[in-house]
Amino acid sequence: MDRRGIRVKRTSSLWETEPMYVLDQDRFLNGACEVETDLEPLDLLDQLQSIESDLGRRKLVDKGPRNIDLDILLYGDETISHDRLKVPHISISEREFVLRPLSELVPSKSLDPSKPWKLIQDYLNELPTREPLSSLTPIRGVVQNLTPLVQNRKTQVMAILNLTPDSFSDGGKHNLESLDKTVLDCIHGGATIIDVGGQSTAPSRPEVSAEEEISRVIPAIELIRSLPEARNIAISVDTYRSSVAEKAIASGADIINDVSAGSLDPAMFSTVARLGKTICLMHMRGTPQTMTNLTNYEDGLIPTVAAELLQRLSAAEEAGIRRWRIILDPGIGFAKSADQNLELLRHLDELRTWPGLSGLPWLVGSSRKSFIGKVTGANEPSARIWGTTATVAAAVQGGADVVRVHDAAEMAKVTSMADAIWRS
Ligand code: ATP
Ligand code: CA
Ligand code: CA
Repeated sequence: MDRRGIRVKRTSSLWETEPMYVLDQDRFLNGACEVETDLEPLDLLDQLQSIESDLGRRKLVDKGPRNIDLDILLYGDETISHDRLKVPHISISEREFVLRPLSELVPSKSLDPSKPWKLIQDYLNELPTREPLSSLTPIRGVVQNLTPLVQNRKTQVMAILNLTPDSFSDGGKHNLESLDKTVLDCIHGGATIIDVGGQSTAPSRPEVSAEEEISRVIPAIELIRSLPEARNIAISVDTYRSSVAEKAIASGADIINDVSAGSLDPAMFSTVARLGKTICLMHMRGTPQTMTNLTNYEDGLIPTVAAELLQRLSAAEEAGIRRWRIILDPGIGFAKSADQNLELLRHLDELRTWPGLSGLPWLVGSSRKSFIGKVTGANEPSARIWGTTATVAAAVQGGADVVRVHDAAEMAKVTSMADAIWRS
């Protein structure tokens, strides 16, 4: 669409839905986009139909399987009644697979000029209640989709691979020779994502140069990508620098895990948008050097974290990152007191379902952090594993899609057990 003068401004999440009308076919993926165009409605329809045909759409069965279907749902506030084109699209109000994505973009738009008070969200509320739809975040191949909101889903374990000599927890332990063993242990233990970091973001750690960060991270990504066992493993890169992100993606990384949610490097969002990869937006304030004292949440912790994440989310979307490429992280241990970290875990569900945030997948990183030391009295990060266990279980109960941990094999056992309790 972008190439044909139909500028995509924002997208919904991608929603996986059961077929309607013709029931004996695969599930569908549905999304809505907000576009800007100079094309008149019928010219727009021509362009969309020509894209469908370029992508090889052949119509065999009405309402049957198709590889692509592009409909015009709304065109500003216009009503169009032409034999080739009806706008608003004729059956929006009965289709959850349309209303759900549309409500993410324009929740308070009306569909019917004779009922201006009736909004998209109202139509959605009127549908009979069924199993909640699941959204889908593609990460790597088909094995690595995140599907929040589905009951029978598996929590993904993201193993932390720190390549920094100063990292707070397993600092200095790895060199490239022992790295493949470490990676294989993580994979065999049950990790499906490996988070590679070349710069510590623990409070008050020194910054390293981008060149230094690149020289730590890239060889590790190349090594992981060379392992056949890691073919289906997603690689995430813990960085707030776009130059590192760009090189990491070129070497085979799938996810950029940015603790600053694009706020420390103004080129981060545009880089990730251009490269079409998934980004994790974490809640933080200030920088890792200054965050420790920025713990004043006057309007309440959850509402404030939600509001600040919503702001980063729209900045990311504004820069062209698709909504289905975004993961959120409440930022445990970043500009939060020990009590606030506990409160985040206790109320994760509330944050997850916050208006404007619902439907997005969540990553929770609590592993070995200092609030666990404070509660359990374990001063050494490596002695905080039992405390971490409780936080991981809490994250699963609260609806986390991914947990980021140091002890992958142990925590994979914890997530399997917690999944069996809360998600089966
Ligand atoms: P549905 O329209 O119920 O979603 P469909 O998308 O599977 O079904 P198609 O075979 O893709 O149906 O389209 C059938 C015709 O619908 C098209 O040839 C087009 O002229 C017409 N049409 C009418 N209104 C619209 C609209 N708002 N957007 C797209 N096509 C429309
Ligand atoms: Ca359609
Ligand atoms: Ca159509």
